[in-house]
Amino acid sequence: MSVSIKNITKIYGEQRALDNVSLEIPSGEIVGLLGPNGAGKSTLMKIITCFIPPTEGTASIFGKDIFEDPMAVKAITGYLPEHNPLYLEMYVREFLSFVAGLHKIKSKNRIEEVIELVGLTKEVNKKIGTLSKGYRQRVGLAQALIHDPQVLILDEPTTGLDPNQLVEIRSLIKSIGQKKTIILSTHIMQEVEAVCRRAIIINNGRVVADDDTKHLARGASLETIFHKITQEQ
Ligand code: ADP
Ligand code: MG
Repeated sequence: MSVSIKNITKIYGEQRALDNVSLEIPSGEIVGLLGPNGAGKSTLMKIITCFIPPTEGTASIFGKDIFEDPMAVKAITGYLPEHNPLYLEMYVREFLSFVAGLHKIKSKNRIEEVIELVGLTKEVNKKIGTLSKGYRQRVGLAQALIHDPQVLILDEPTTGLDPNQLVEIRSLIKSIGQKKTIILSTHIMQEVEAVCRRAIIINNGRVVADDDTKHLARGASLETIFHKITQEQ
């Protein structure tokens, strides 16, 4: 299993952000994690990328446990956090060289490879702060991909993009997904339909649906699906 999440609960103070979440994600899948604001998507992503610990439960990436071997987990996982934090004063290539350094990547070639892969060739000598939102997302994807991870965790990678950028970033994610396991979060059902084979819906920290996108969506919005799920329960 590429990602295995076992009985994860996360409590912040009095808030139960995740409640006994278990998921198995086989290698090579592109999975959409859907849910409204506050559902627990970002919390789950931060836990499986070793940025915060769960209150209970554990997770492993290709058999590497987040508690026992966080360095190994980080070595095989790429993460694009929500709001894509970047150093706006840095130049694109300079920033990616910096990130490569953090991963102890010595090859200059790898930096150029990733720049080409995400379509940043024309922008490499620009300051990140001067780029459009879509190109900044490409920089975010490049930093997540630089160490050629097997698993990519993308937290709302298309939020705030204009329609053209949205289409481009989605197709980029799809093409990257031919060789990697990807979990991406969104609150847009159409996004999951466009990119993912499998959709997992979370609400109030619980998994409320997990199915083939085709079965689940059938053109319906997240609101309609929610309505149906809550009526069934
Ligand atoms: P999503 O990404 O689906 O919008 P989050 O994982 O960000 O959801 O948040 C889940 C719940 O946990 C929300 O109610 C949020 O307010 C709460 N939460 C998230 N981070 C913290 C934190 N650091 N401290 C306290 N509560 C938090
Ligand atoms: Mg979030």
